[in-house]
Amino acid sequence: MTGCHVCGLVQRVTPGQAATCPRCEARVHMRKPDSLSRSWALLLAAYVLYIPANLLPMMVTSTIFGVQQDTIMSGVVLFWTSGSWMLAVIVFTASILVPLLKLFAMTYLLLTVGRRSAAEPESRTRLYRIVELIGRWSMLDVFVVALVVALVQIRSLATITAGAGTTAFGAVVVLTLLASRCFDSRLIWDHARQENSHD
Ligand SMILES: [Zn+2]
Repeated sequence: MTGCHVCGLVQRVTPGQAATCPRCEARVHMRKPDSLSRSWALLLAAYVLYIPANLLPMMVTSTIFGVQQDTIMSGVVLFWTSGSWMLAVIVFTASILVPLLKLFAMTYLLLTVGRRSAAEPESRTRLYRIVELIGRWSMLDVFVVALVVALVQIRSLATITAGAGTTAFGAVVVLTLLASRCFDSRLIWDHARQENSHD
């Protein structure tokens, strides 16, 4: 017997054989080991690297006038002040807002499961599925940076290379992805079920 990792429905599963949840059609397998501690470790590493990702230069622009280094935020400000508002909004959302919201969402899920909270299992499961969904598209963040580099290169004819910030940024994206992969959302429903059985 095991529980579905998406909706928590308990069902009979033959070990070593693929099964599908009859309630939500998710694939069912045994529970992920050390889910909470692994997710916490990866998440904390992502938080630490979020700092250099935002402080170290993302773009290094070389022109005949000299070398200019841009962080994500100074890039956003540059786009905004030069009138490229759409680009400023896209870069800000993809590179600053979404990664931070993913970190906060995972922190909330890990904290509530750690405290054995029984509150709102449905909305917390939905939140987890959103994080997982964004995770699948998170290479989009890196794609946006590449696009911006290409655009600026065409416009200004300057030489633009990726700064050390991109490495830290890529690490944040991958670590957050791994943290959400390690998190077993069945844990949300474990405590919800315990609470319900007292009724
Ligand atoms: Zn299910």
